[in-house]
Amino acid sequence: MIEDKNQSRTPISELGEFGLIDHLTKHFEVTQKSTIKSIGDDAAVLDFKSKQVVITTDLLVEHVHFDLSYMPLKHLGYKAMIANLSDVYAMNANATQVTIGIAISNRFPLEALEELYAGIETASKIYGVDVVGGDTTSSTTGLIISITAVGEVNKNDVVYRSGAKPNDLLVVTGDLGAAYMGLQILEREKEVFKVNPNNQPDLEPYTYIVERQLKPEARKDIVKLLKDLKVKPTSMIDISDGLSSEIIHLCKQSEVGAVLYENKIPLDPQVISTCEEFNIDSTTIALNGGEDYELLMTISQEDFPKIKGNPNLTVIGYMTEKDQGMHLITRSEALIPLIAKGWNALKDQ
Ligand SMILES: [Mg+2]
Repeated sequence: MIEDKNQSRTPISELGEFGLIDHLTKHFEVTQKSTIKSIGDDAAVLDFKSKQVVITTDLLVEHVHFDLSYMPLKHLGYKAMIANLSDVYAMNANATQVTIGIAISNRFPLEALEELYAGIETASKIYGVDVVGGDTTSSTTGLIISITAVGEVNKNDVVYRSGAKPNDLLVVTGDLGAAYMGLQILEREKEVFKVNPNNQPDLEPYTYIVERQLKPEARKDIVKLLKDLKVKPTSMIDISDGLSSEIIHLCKQSEVGAVLYENKIPLDPQVISTCEEFNIDSTTIALNGGEDYELLMTISQEDFPKIKGNPNLTVIGYMTEKDQGMHLITRSEALIPLIAKGWNALKDQ
């Protein structure tokens, strides 16, 4: 479906390990004040002065986390960055540096790695993070990407999963379920392509959801918005595995319960129409689909006037005492216990 238009294939062995790193990283610029020494020594040197430092790592494995038959390498590089940066923003921190580890089998030529790094570079520019190190090595099977992201935050601004209190409002950014439905479209088109390689898929009705799958964004803007609104969430987490399991994480770590209203969950019209087409329930997808990279937070009721009417922030429920459990209130006002499925589990059904 997505053809490899780049026909030249330079074996990676032609450059050697150090030549390869130089070649892939030569365009990377240093923009963060905290980066004292970037690529080129045994290790990077960072200076955060009085700030606290957050660090997070993600590992992506071909055939487990991504499928290169519909995920162009440039998008994969971009998305791998987004998944990590999203975790930094979920701490209410500003992402500043990343290191990139890649293992590749010899079926990938240099041009493929250039594509991957082009996506990484695009994300680093858009999000203002420095690529300060990394490693490349060979793999006997597929492609493996490990990114470590570093961020900075004022000591009093850091937000954990554990601070939610009963009666706090449960708030989510953006809309949910689109990345999962985009994946369904891409997988359907992959099957069509296998049968008829000349078939040109019409993705026009699905542009938003396919983009949410192939080129998601992390909510750096929300960290700034919360600061501007003078709202410090009492707890926060990014939505990588689906709303349901993220609510459960907040509840468990904060020792509270939660009530979520089905009719408040923000859904894009394309998610609703595609769910109808696939004959699946859009609430199930919002609860259990993954990779939306939105932020889920709890805020004190006192802060409600500051967020009221903001199009980026939707109140979807509230926190309760722990012994009241975690429930969804459906449109027909039935009370259903929330369970964690996660999108991988959903895929296996
Ligand atoms: Mg996370």
